[in-house]
Amino acid sequence: MTAQVIDGKAFSAKIREKVASDVTALQDKHGIKPGLAVVIVGEDAASTIYVNSKIKQTSEAGMESFHFALPDTISEADLVAKVHELNADDRVNGILVQLPLPKHIHESAVIEAIAPEKDVDGFHVINSGLLATGGKGMVPCTPLGCLLMLKDTLGDLSGMKAVVIGRSNIVGKPMAQLLLQENCTVTLAHSRTRDLAGEVKQADIVVAAVGVSELVKGDWIKKGATVIDVGMNRIPAPERGEGKVRLTGDVAYDEAAQNAAYITPVPGGVGPMTIACLLRNTVTAACRQAGLDDNDL
Ligand code: NAP
Repeated sequence: MTAQVIDGKAFSAKIREKVASDVTALQDKHGIKPGLAVVIVGEDAASTIYVNSKIKQTSEAGMESFHFALPDTISEADLVAKVHELNADDRVNGILVQLPLPKHIHESAVIEAIAPEKDVDGFHVINSGLLATGGKGMVPCTPLGCLLMLKDTLGDLSGMKAVVIGRSNIVGKPMAQLLLQENCTVTLAHSRTRDLAGEVKQADIVVAAVGVSELVKGDWIKKGATVIDVGMNRIPAPERGEGKVRLTGDVAYDEAAQNAAYITPVPGGVGPMTIACLLRNTVTAACRQAGLDDNDL
């Protein structure tokens, strides 16, 4: 068996098209132009690339984009004050503070300062609580993107056995909650899991969000399983020239594709879905803040 590739690039383009048409409809029918504020602190190269692409795609979707580049010497109090200012700004429906933040700033203090209804990253404790209790909050973008791909590929996930590897607050835990809501039987594995291979071998759905290049081997994958690889690992690639790197996932792709029915590539799988879901969350936030039913979008 050679797996069918789940094309995150093509799927994310469809989501962005839908976001753009929702934005036009919101403007035409209700005079609302959703706005996303992105705050970046310092000049981390990877963060700057992510932020620039978020800003570009926000504008391309017809939304208002606000960008704040703050020095890495900013105090926690001043950053929190900036967040409060954005909370009070009616043009801003979504606020994203790019992580990581400099060491002298507590990330949790900044995230908890964001108004939960504007927390389009879905990291606020109110939104994690709503997700855990089946409420209607903002859902973190990366796991939301993974779920949309799974449902688009497999349809009803009910009764499937899912193994999520990684228990971070931004990927693994919300992913497990989302799969549970879809009536999967979920195992949440991590670095202390005793027999990771044995757990993965039972799974109909494997989501790997670890940060260890090609940790998941091909023979761990059950025949016909669906594999979602969240990992983005930059490893040295001397064959491409001195100092060059290449991007790998957490799954040994070529081997795993021999057993899986469906698999996401790295790059071109989960990555593009994350920003598309950020745009989608911003539209959802704008609708809810205006008292409109986002289910109609
Ligand atoms: P993280 O906060 O570092 O969490 C990693 C998790 O993996 C932890 O729960 C850790 O377990 C577990 N783990 C580490 N080594 C393990 C091992 N050998 N066996 C089993 N579990 C192990 O990472 P993250 O922020 O969730 O990100 C995970 C990966 O996804 C990274 O490669 C990141 O770059 C990527 N990512 C991609 C996107 C995207 O848009 N494509 C977005 C976010 C993240 P413990 O809890 O026991 O330490």
